[in-house]
Amino acid sequence: MQDCIFCKIVKKEIPAEIVYENDHVLVFKDVKPASPIHLLLIPKKHIPTFFDLQPEDSQIIGEVQRAAATVARDMGLAEKGFRLVSNCMEDAGQLVFHMHYHMLAGRPLQWPPG
Ligand code: 5GP
Ligand code: ZN
Repeated sequence: MQDCIFCKIVKKEIPAEIVYENDHVLVFKDVKPASPIHLLLIPKKHIPTFFDLQPEDSQIIGEVQRAAATVARDMGLAEKGFRLVSNCMEDAGQLVFHMHYHMLAGRPLQWPPG
């Protein structure tokens, strides 16, 4: 999608610190980290929110979640773990309308979030 910042990162039109990539998934560092490790995991396909998911997107979303485990293992998080969270629309504070998961890790995380 033309004006989507994450689509621009997928197309390498704007820079990002990419840590993992495959045919359907891109993982890069959040520009404003909220924890020592703060990654964004996105489908390369432009899907604005969960409400836009189509039946054929199930495999892509599954791949995003599997990428979380791959990246976490590679980053040495297999023992301590991580949090995967996705903000959907206004009340959750979604700012970028290209579906994504935040991976937060590297410190004990409070629950529930604010
Ligand atoms: P949301 O509130 O939509 O769940 O979170 C969007 C996230 O994207 C925020 O944590 C924000 O810091 C991050 N972000 C926004 N623009 C950019 C960008 O251009 N590059 C990177 N790496 N992260 C971004
Ligand atoms: Zn997009």
